[in-house]
Amino acid sequence: MKLLEYEAKDLFRARGIPTAPTGGVIKKAAQINGALKRAGRGPWVLKAQVLVGGRGKAGGVQIAKTPKEAREKAKFILGLKLVTHQSHGQAVPVKELLIDRAVDIEREMYVSVAMDRAKACPIVIASAEGGMEIEELAKTRPEAILKLPIDPGVGLLDYQARSLAFKMKVPAPLLGTFVKFAKSLVKLYLDMDASLVEVNPLVVTKKGELLALDGKVLIEDNALYRHPEFAKRGDLEASALEKEAKKVGLNFIALDGDIGCLVNGAGLAMATMDSVKLAGGSPANFLDVGGGANAEQVTRAFQIILKDAKVRAILVNIFGGIMKCTTIAEGVLAAAKRVKLKVPLVVRLEGTKVEEGKEILAKSGLAMIQADSLWDAAQKAVRAAKSVDANGAKRMAVAS
Ligand code: GDP
Ligand code: MN
Repeated sequence: MKLLEYEAKDLFRARGIPTAPTGGVIKKAAQINGALKRAGRGPWVLKAQVLVGGRGKAGGVQIAKTPKEAREKAKFILGLKLVTHQSHGQAVPVKELLIDRAVDIEREMYVSVAMDRAKACPIVIASAEGGMEIEELAKTRPEAILKLPIDPGVGLLDYQARSLAFKMKVPAPLLGTFVKFAKSLVKLYLDMDASLVEVNPLVVTKKGELLALDGKVLIEDNALYRHPEFAKRGDLEASALEKEAKKVGLNFIALDGDIGCLVNGAGLAMATMDSVKLAGGSPANFLDVGGGANAEQVTRAFQIILKDAKVRAILVNIFGGIMKCTTIAEGVLAAAKRVKLKVPLVVRLEGTKVEEGKEILAKSGLAMIQADSLWDAAQKAVRAAKSVDANGAKRMAVAS
């Protein structure tokens, strides 16, 4: 789970990691005055709160010298759809704006803590030269990026933090502050079960303070149960359908295509999506109903798939293992009766008691297309989706 900058900086402050004074977050430009007052005297920095980096270069971070300028810029940024070099071509609407007191920057540095999978331990990544060109630096002068493995049992030790400080040319009077900062950052990473904690830039101000001006925290999803305050808030990047699916225990990811896939098992779901693609179609989702795949789960899965207006056909591909195909067939029937199917349904069953399962479906009178293999199912689903026009007017007629 990605945290927004202000959430990350709230965690920093709670752990004594110094940041610039903040006026908090606003959602409307009209709320700017309160925020400016809370931040203290200007100039201020206005920062779009979105879950993609590279905001600065895309106009999402701006400095305002007067309240009037702040109001105008707030209005501008809150209306922006940010396209940054990290947003993968997508335009991310800005819904929240952070107002901090701006500081005079003497130097920008980079510090992060991440997981090094090869070394199987966390590492501190740091550079004396931080800021918006860090990706460029990593490419052109990788030797300027320091990497320090840490023992998660003890965290960052004083001598390690000091050696980092020397290599990063942290000014001598800030040595103690830096050591405390780096140790707290590593402790935050460990305590929060983070997969990344990043400060870019970590600045030395003209007044000689050391401040974390930006903050990024990623919490490992599998550890969210240990952080109920964030588990409760939910994933800000999840779509409404993804949230609904999560609530009922379905492993669901929305995609761009028009064939709704309902599959049991993540591997089979991947293979199904690949087959749909190979047959010239495009999956509307990844959906793994899990090993249980009972009527209840299948019904919920149908409901969620059908809420996606793009869906032109549904492909059910279920492998009966411990769960017999007869049980699954009954589940599909029960679900199809409860949910009004507005698009063609292609069903492929395989596994234990497959013949009996297919017979149950064939005798049911429910309009559906049965398929014998994964490839057969994918082709039939693609054909069915193409037979439904844009308004979904032409319904599937025959069961084959
Ligand atoms: P990012 O581009 O999404 O990583 O956003 P950042 O929060 O890192 O801000 C981008 C850049 O804006 C920073 O690298 C700084 O150079 C600049 N910046 C941010 N806050 C301040 C500030 O208080 N004063 C000044 N002068 N520059 C700032
Ligand atoms: Mn940054």
